[in-house]
Amino acid sequence: MKQKIKEKLEDSNYRMTGQRAAILEVMIDNQGEHLSAEEVLYKAREKMPNIGIATVYRTLDKLASIEVLYKSMFDEGRYRYELCDEGTHQHHHIICLDCGNITEMEDDLLNNLEQRIESKGFKVIDHDLKFYAYCPACRNRK
Ligand SMILES: [Zn+2]
Ligand SMILES: [Zn+2]
Ligand SMILES: [Zn+2]
Repeated sequence: MKQKIKEKLEDSNYRMTGQRAAILEVMIDNQGEHLSAEEVLYKAREKMPNIGIATVYRTLDKLASIEVLYKSMFDEGRYRYELCDEGTHQHHHIICLDCGNITEMEDDLLNNLEQRIESKGFKVIDHDLKFYAYCPACRNRK
């Protein structure tokens, strides 16, 4: 397991049971993916067939609260989870309004804005920016 993740778990005294570890493993195995709780459940059951959806929700939310995971609403009323970027600001997401595909944009883009905010005495920790768009594949189909 990555050292950073290990530290966050230890700092928060979060006890790793077999089921919790299986859920975290799914997230690590799928780094860069944006998974819903149902998708995590499906994958976690390949490792541990008895895992229930309530455990998945509880574990994902706990891991998000200690910043191991990043939790964001992409679809109407449904959260998706991904492994946090380590030591950097959150990347941005471009969400296709047709197919729902999520593309990541790694450049920070917000440095100028951050400087303006910090010039007012704030310390910016992170940000969450989503673009809603039509992806190239969907545009071609039209
Ligand atoms: Zn930034
Ligand atoms: Zn699309
Ligand atoms: Zn992402």
